[in-house]
Amino acid sequence: MLALRRSERLCEIRKVESPSKDVEKEKRKKRKEEREETCSANKKRKRKDINPNKEDKKIKEDNTKTKKAAKSEDDEIKLENKPERVEKKSRKTKLTQEMFAKRLSNITKYVGAHVSISGGVQNAITNSLFIGGNAFAIFLRNQRRWTAPPLDPKNIEAFRENCLQHNYASKFILPHGSYLINLGNPDQEKREKSYQAFLEDLRRCELLGLTLYNFHPGSTVGNCTKEQSIQHIANCINRAHKETSNVTCVIENMAGSGNIVGSRFEELADIISRIDDKNRIGVCIDTCHAFAAGYDLRTDQAYEETMKEFSRHIGFQYLRGMHLNDSETELGSLRDRHANIGKGYLGLEAFRLIMNDDRLNGIPLVLETPIGPDDELSDYHREIELLYGLIGRKSPITTNCVKAHITEKNKEKRKSKNQSKR
Ligand SMILES: [Zn+2]
Ligand SMILES: [Zn+2]
Repeated sequence: MLALRRSERLCEIRKVESPSKDVEKEKRKKRKEEREETCSANKKRKRKDINPNKEDKKIKEDNTKTKKAAKSEDDEIKLENKPERVEKKSRKTKLTQEMFAKRLSNITKYVGAHVSISGGVQNAITNSLFIGGNAFAIFLRNQRRWTAPPLDPKNIEAFRENCLQHNYASKFILPHGSYLINLGNPDQEKREKSYQAFLEDLRRCELLGLTLYNFHPGSTVGNCTKEQSIQHIANCINRAHKETSNVTCVIENMAGSGNIVGSRFEELADIISRIDDKNRIGVCIDTCHAFAAGYDLRTDQAYEETMKEFSRHIGFQYLRGMHLNDSETELGSLRDRHANIGKGYLGLEAFRLIMNDDRLNGIPLVLETPIGPDDELSDYHREIELLYGLIGRKSPITTNCVKAHITEKNKEKRKSKNQSKR
């Protein structure tokens, strides 16, 4: 813990100075070169990591999935089951500074991505360095299984050391909880099972020196009122606070309606109001979820209105992180479909507004966007660069890719309408 605090000081937040045009040009050129190096480094690294027989197939299967989250599940099974082989691997793969993307310093916005812990939790830091992330998220274990073997003490040690060495302070690391956990379940036995998994996750955070833990609030599963569900969630958090010492529970806003708790800011505020230790409760806004839930962020005015709503019901003092995702579906669709930055219905302007909003300084801004089949890490690297490039941009941004995406969608719709008419 002490170690992480020291690095927090090192990461002091400072204003970004806009360099002159020539310097900028030179930098861009350099960055491009570095990016190319990173891409080839990633590819080389990947080739080394893959066992040609069994895992080759597995990787191919994984490549068909687009979401990072889905992929890291398989990775984590490998990690947890084969610690000895993993160690040998890491000794073979020599990582050099040149393989990492350039990380910006003197920043106020801490942008990164949800990275894999394949091969050991300590590899999250290396993965974040590859993409030039200044923040990152991880799963603490296989997020789709109830049980997992304990973390290897050697990996814990390495994780802490890597964080310190590369200046990743705990307030910029936002681990994501298991998808199975539902603290709002009215069934006492099922809720207890969720609670134990929740507690296990929090204890893992403490072992790793992490102080934030991001999770989905829960669901009524159709068997109780939202109010009852909210009370169950709050009870679980209060109980967990007593059984752990310093992790802040960070509730995420949700896209859906119906049984899901937390798509409205009011519901998140309701949970917070029932928490005894207000210092250990926080909120993470997912931009895609917010947009799907009907909170618009696309224009200056809409953005301000949404943020005013957030401030009125919850307050920025509770905001501990954000998930930066564009949306595959329209405003108020209630669907959770992440799109790449600038390529969905939210569009680049929403992210320009975010990147220039001082209320969002000093918190982890984490990408959970779809990744390409071959070159996943460099996809994140490009998005991180894109986001940092929006700082200081004044005029509203409408990109051709957004327009193209939407026109394409509309065309598809018209096509299917016409077909059904015939
Ligand atoms: Zn989430
Ligand atoms: Zn989502």
